[in-house]
Amino acid sequence: MESASDLLNDPAVRAYLFRLVGNEGLDLIERFPTDGEHSDEELAASTKINLNTVRHTLYTLYEKRLAEYHRIKNNETGWLTYLWQLRLDQIYDALREDMAMVLEKLERREKYEEENDFYICKECQILFTFPQAMNTDFNCTDCEKPMTHFDNDLLLKSLKYRIDAIRKTLGQV
Ligand SMILES: [Zn+2]
Repeated sequence: MESASDLLNDPAVRAYLFRLVGNEGLDLIERFPTDGEHSDEELAASTKINLNTVRHTLYTLYEKRLAEYHRIKNNETGWLTYLWQLRLDQIYDALREDMAMVLEKLERREKYEEENDFYICKECQILFTFPQAMNTDFNCTDCEKPMTHFDNDLLLKSLKYRIDAIRKTLGQV
């Protein structure tokens, strides 16, 4: 397994984690002790990161299966302690899932762009679909000035380009 610091040098991994947990979250991941399991309070103390940030980061990572915990019950007090460790070995699965979600969104957008004809008010920079434009006789709903046809070819082209690139990365082509 690659070490956490190796993984964090991968720009794609870093960008993904940054979007997921932000700067402080990345800080926590970088300062996370490399061995053993740790409670949120221990982690806050050893990394000097705010306890709530530690908790929120752990939970967010947990949702993506990038962190896991196990519970220990103190038999005298009945209190539960959660001991955490990172599972950065799962990061490439998380990245693939994320990419698959982005792909789905882009494909939906592509379909929408392909199935619609667009009109724009150049004054207000508002876009209308054909039925919307029809409703107001091709006059802007805001300033009432006439709309012009909006050519979405460039947008579609760049959408297709991005979709293609992701499909290739995911091994779908
Ligand atoms: Zn307008």
